[in-house]
Amino acid sequence: MNKPFERIAVVGVGFLGTQIAMLSAYAGYKVTAYDTRQNAFDETYNKLHDDLKAKTETPLIPWDDWERCRQAVSVTSELKESLKDVDLVVEAVTEDVELKRKIFKQMGEVAPPKAIFATNSSSLPISRIEESSGRPERCLNTHFYQLLQGMNMADIMGGTKTLPEILEKGADWLRSLGLIPLKVKKEILGFCFNSVWRAIKKQSLYLWGNGFVDFRDIDRAWRIFTGMKMGPFGLMDAVGLDTVYNIEMVYFTDSKDQKDKPPEAMLEKIKRGELGVKTGKGFYTYPNPEFLQPDFLNPQKKIN
Ligand code: NAD
Repeated sequence: MNKPFERIAVVGVGFLGTQIAMLSAYAGYKVTAYDTRQNAFDETYNKLHDDLKAKTETPLIPWDDWERCRQAVSVTSELKESLKDVDLVVEAVTEDVELKRKIFKQMGEVAPPKAIFATNSSSLPISRIEESSGRPERCLNTHFYQLLQGMNMADIMGGTKTLPEILEKGADWLRSLGLIPLKVKKEILGFCFNSVWRAIKKQSLYLWGNGFVDFRDIDRAWRIFTGMKMGPFGLMDAVGLDTVYNIEMVYFTDSKDQKDKPPEAMLEKIKRGELGVKTGKGFYTYPNPEFLQPDFLNPQKKIN
């Protein structure tokens, strides 16, 4: 597969940024990583590694290549250094529009003029960030899923001024990582598949948060219906409940519709530090969540 770029920088190497950096290294790109949190890359790498091993899933990167890819990612605490001579910068910092605007401004000041800027935001169209970069025609959304768990697809969407060739290059880059680019032709909140997932997530949170149904029954139903290994609540734990909450708040802020507001009970969980897989507790406890127990889908067992 042709590689449209040589050098890639990932800004923000938490849960998703680390996966993007790893997959880019696996595909043969020269990768730098930058984060304000010391050891962000190594800490996240270890968590991802242990979590995926516990689930004995076949990850997108074969186990034998993990350590090599980890070594190939060059981590720095200097933004300027990480963006030196890069062709593409992928921003994956916390879901906060003001923070992203600030980072895009900083990136615009230190990255070479040729560099393309992509945001991995789950909910913010690039049109809300692009101006601060000083190069809106080279900005786009590339929204990834649980990459290393094998979800080999990514949404791709342009902003108000994105050049067609930049979108093409972005799609080529995704293909070179082994991902299917889901091309969004007109701007929409939530992109392609993420907006489908959001409808499921919103209704699941509504049923649980207002006391209609136990979250485990929603996950059971989902698993039986789809044949998937986890339901919406297991998936939200994997994403991170703080991230899910912030994403839902973007929709709520946009629509002002009370039905879009995430339930109070979710905020309570976040305040208690129950953020999902990353803190060891969310809806389920980790590393051995109840939904992976053999009896979770056994009709003869009365669990809860
Ligand atoms: P995370 O909290 O795991 O990671 C965010 C990282 O950003 C942290 O390591 C943090 O230290 C870093 N950061 C914060 N401020 C920074 C700054 N000023 N400069 C550099 N780094 C900074 O969050 P995440 O789940 O990886 O989400 C990151 C982005 O990816 C969000 O926009 C989110 O919407 C999106 N996303 C997340 C998922 C998911 O499943 N979690 C999926 C798709 C997209």
